[in-house]
Amino acid sequence: MKRYYLDNNATTPVDERVKEAMLPYLGEAFFNPSSVYTPAREVRKAIETARERLANLLNADPEEIIFTSGGTEADNIAIKGTAFALAEKGKHIITSAIEHPAVLNTCKFLERVGFSVSYVPVDRYGIVDMDHLKESIRDDTILISIMYANNEIGTIQPIEEIASIARERGIYFHTDAVQVIGKFPVDVKVLGVDFLALSAHKFYGPKGVGALYVRKGVRFRPLVHGGHQERGLRGGTENVAGIVGFGEAAKIASEEMEVEEKRLRPLRDALENGILEKIPEVIVNGHPEQRLYNTLNVCIRYVEGESVLLMLDREGICVSTGSACSSGSLEPSHVLLAIGLSHEVAHGSIRFSIGKFNTEEDIDKVLSVVPPIVERLREISPLWNKEEKGG
Ligand code: PLP
Repeated sequence: MKRYYLDNNATTPVDERVKEAMLPYLGEAFFNPSSVYTPAREVRKAIETARERLANLLNADPEEIIFTSGGTEADNIAIKGTAFALAEKGKHIITSAIEHPAVLNTCKFLERVGFSVSYVPVDRYGIVDMDHLKESIRDDTILISIMYANNEIGTIQPIEEIASIARERGIYFHTDAVQVIGKFPVDVKVLGVDFLALSAHKFYGPKGVGALYVRKGVRFRPLVHGGHQERGLRGGTENVAGIVGFGEAAKIASEEMEVEEKRLRPLRDALENGILEKIPEVIVNGHPEQRLYNTLNVCIRYVEGESVLLMLDREGICVSTGSACSSGSLEPSHVLLAIGLSHEVAHGSIRFSIGKFNTEEDIDKVLSVVPPIVERLREISPLWNKEEKGG
């Protein structure tokens, strides 16, 4: 069966060029980069080239990039690493209500060991309430952590503004930019962030590798103790093939993302307009403009997102009902609840997230398949029938 993959915010297919770049490091170039003989030094060089490519992508210096096992670990290092380094200065952290579990659960853990965390609410589009954020700042606040763009609804936060508020108050600022990197250019110097988390598998690189940007001079405590790798900031023999693939993905993104945006935005818009035209009672979630150009999250009223997802799966279409990480739980997404949707409406959520391997044909397929599925599901929905009959 032909597959139509529209779940690129969960993960992306690995670019062939990335795979090719990785293969030697799974074969003849197997050496430990910390060893001193010539072939090992070649492997070390490959890691440093990848680091330069990542630094280029972010306009950072190579020494400001720490390789990790992914976005989750990068978020953990930024948040716990700051908490452990600055606990004597203060024990208060500010984050938002719509963060990824990598941030939320890290904050919950810190609450259990004596830190306090303020969760700033968002408006109906998912934008952080700036007044609330400013009012939450206390003398003992040591870190503000706000995601750049939300993985479920795609809303993009005013990161530069938040970073400047943090800077004025002498508070470290971390942003989880996992969903942004590779989609549009990011300049850490312009943003003025202290930490920024990214992950290779969200932009056509391999899974299990990511990085944390740490601005020069910023203090944090390492979480993984071991050898002297990553300048002693993250021990463990490097995931060489993964890092090389990550570097290649960064290089490709630097060269191609602007062109991709021009192609993908109209595809997402065609999908959005098509769904709104063909299906009544649909709500588009996220900000109308400040939203990732690849993301469309809709609530289709009077149907269960889960049922739509399963019926689409039978047609070879892969989508999500929200965050991939929260599927399996029956609770509606915390993000949809935070933007003010009722449980009932939130349950009808479907997220389409397109990527560079999607074509017009994929959008046409979805637009031909989704409306009849919704119609069938609504026919058996008591709520829909009641509404329809004016009951
Ligand atoms: N942060 C955000 C916003 C994400 O979307 C994800 C992945 O879903 C992560 C963090 C976690 O990244 P990783 O899968 O590399 O651990």
